[in-house]
Amino acid sequence: MTPDTLFHDLTVHHIRFQVEAITPIEMDAFKGSALRGAWQSYIRRAYCPAPTDAKTSATHRATCPVCYLTARDTGPEGRRPFALRPPFSRQRRYEPGEQFSFTFSLFGDTIFLLPYVILAVAEVGETCGLGRRLDESGRRGRYRLQAVQTVDPHRGQEQELLDATNRVIHPPQLCVGADSIAGRAQALAGETPGGAMRLDLLSPLRLIRQQGLMREFHFPVFVQRLLERLFALGAEFGREGERYDKATLAAVVARYLPLAAQVQVVEDATAWWDVQGYSSRTGRRHYLGGLVGHVVLQAQDWRPFLPLLLWGESVQLGKNVVKGGGCFRVSRAGPVPSHSAEAREARPSQEGDNAHR
Ligand SMILES: [Zn+2]
Repeated sequence: MTPDTLFHDLTVHHIRFQVEAITPIEMDAFKGSALRGAWQSYIRRAYCPAPTDAKTSATHRATCPVCYLTARDTGPEGRRPFALRPPFSRQRRYEPGEQFSFTFSLFGDTIFLLPYVILAVAEVGETCGLGRRLDESGRRGRYRLQAVQTVDPHRGQEQELLDATNRVIHPPQLCVGADSIAGRAQALAGETPGGAMRLDLLSPLRLIRQQGLMREFHFPVFVQRLLERLFALGAEFGREGERYDKATLAAVVARYLPLAAQVQVVEDATAWWDVQGYSSRTGRRHYLGGLVGHVVLQAQDWRPFLPLLLWGESVQLGKNVVKGGGCFRVSRAGPVPSHSAEAREARPSQEGDNAHR
């Protein structure tokens, strides 16, 4: 497979929700965990008819769309049919009338699950609520769904999906596929395919490197993990899943790693954001921390990497993509200052968070 033919059978539907607080809503600064938790517990309770002990059976999971969406949470990230893009601001409280948005990205044919996703997002806001129980009311915050769009961020297009008056859901006409990726890759490469590219890490990027965590940005590790993720998604959700076998992945990785090793990090303004979540279902703490900030990278030729990086924008990377981790964005960097500013902040290591999880 060459960069042009990689992942040509994969599609991603980005479904963006815009909501308005009706009562105060309080969440942690990193909001992915709260959004995902509220949505998931609602969808399980409301739309899955099976008693609790039957929800985990293989036959039930094979036929229940809700459990298909939510029950793949154990095991590799590549089996999960969606990723969540939370609001990136660190705002913790929304007053009535304030708006925010977040995006569910559905992979491959899982778009048939869209009505469940939309209804659950709407119902969470109006019934059980979101975020912390507030001291003043004892209840979680309520919101109203204002708009739902499908977006193709690579083409800069969007389409309204929800008719707010009568709750009709229009079928999405837009999705991200190889064409939109190729178009933006070409625009980003421009006439000078080398030069500086900026990678903004918008939500914690948690990657494994040599059995530990990647606490300092390392482009070859980033590229290898990205290829592994895209192959896992291709195998699971591509129309030609059989193309994404282990031998092909190994060959592609072997071709990319020497190229990636030549890419220089000319500015590293990343820092570890120590985020922890708590699952009321399992009673366990989750480590969601990762690198945020930005890096500026210099390459002789970006063309082999651009399709990968742009697919990565759409599918996210690393642990916890269903909870909003690993969102990033690629753009052309301005001229790099000659002193190569090292803006890296001190990396706190008290997180107790070095294990492979
Ligand atoms: Zn079910």
